[in-house]
Amino acid sequence: MVDLRLSNISKTYRRGTAPVFALRDVTLEIARGELMAVVGPSGCGKTTLLRVVAGLERPETGNVYFGEREVLAVPAERRGVGFVFQHPALYPHLSVYENVAFGPHSQRFPAASVDASVREAARQMRVDEDLLPHAPRELSGGQRQRVALARALATKPQILLLDEPLSALDAQLRLELRVELARIHDASAATTLFVTHDQSEALSIGRRIAVMRDGRIEQVGTARELYDRPANVFVAQFIGAPPMALFSGTISDGRFSAAGGLTFALAAGGPGPALAGFRASDARIADDGELRGTVSAVEDLGADTYAYVGGAFGTIVVRTQATVRPGESVAVRLDGARAKLFDVDGKRKDA
Ligand code: ATP
Repeated sequence: MVDLRLSNISKTYRRGTAPVFALRDVTLEIARGELMAVVGPSGCGKTTLLRVVAGLERPETGNVYFGEREVLAVPAERRGVGFVFQHPALYPHLSVYENVAFGPHSQRFPAASVDASVREAARQMRVDEDLLPHAPRELSGGQRQRVALARALATKPQILLLDEPLSALDAQLRLELRVELARIHDASAATTLFVTHDQSEALSIGRRIAVMRDGRIEQVGTARELYDRPANVFVAQFIGAPPMALFSGTISDGRFSAAGGLTFALAAGGPGPALAGFRASDARIADDGELRGTVSAVEDLGADTYAYVGGAFGTIVVRTQATVRPGESVAVRLDGARAKLFDVDGKRKDA
């Protein structure tokens, strides 16, 4: 087990003559044996980050350390890294057993330990012994992904890189493997980076989560930290569902005020323009609410109901127990103490 550090990594691709800045000065530390999720929208640089760690891409600047060791000069096959992709790239002409044995063989494990490693990894990933002699094409998508994970685990990697390994699977299987991944990680103890574009997957799997945008790390923290103390508007809106509603207004005399009667007292915060963010749980439908609006849509998710309320203030999503219908006029009360305040450039005011 080693800790993994990336320091000031930049990676630029070329598209025609135009540069594409895939990673911009990325610095990230993952503790020994930690499972960190990396989340961000499509194209923000998540895969490139993993490829740099694996040695499949060389950055222009910065360095990667496994423990104290600089690894940029170490070729991919000697880095001791396990890599699992979104679409499991199993060798079609090899059996499941041979696929899983491929890593230990190519890393010249002694013959006796290859078999033990294959069977242990298959057991860990709950790949049935009966499947081992079969060809990958005879397996379901979920089974193939289990084999791909077993193949990565069979080499007992110090570092495990998982690039959207669940996103090609159906919802039920995804939830099942989500839970299993945490168990497998605990058993393998490999320092693990798990990439996904799905914030709920990132929050559920990562002990800590790195949020990326446009080649940069925006914030690293636990699910609770990202949810309660987002560093900026991007993280505030990316983490949590439904997304946080934002209102542009002004702070003066200890109050935030925006269009449509949206106003609340502040404990702190200097005067000037600002943005205030409310999550659905920070607002409720109440007869004495200060905001009047019309319900534009209702999402009933069983456990929770969300009403989208529009008015002169904009639109806010409200979690509610009340039965409301689209078109209905309602009053909304905001919990000003729970508002998240941001500068006009999007940075958290009290961060
Ligand atoms: P996704 O979630 O869609 O897989 P991502 O966050 O993993 O996206 P990357 O695949 O790392 O993002 O890509 C980051 C940026 O670099 C994107 O703009 C992408 O188009 C670009 N890029 C990636 N690989 C190359 C390449 N080989 N040549 C040119 N541009 C590339």
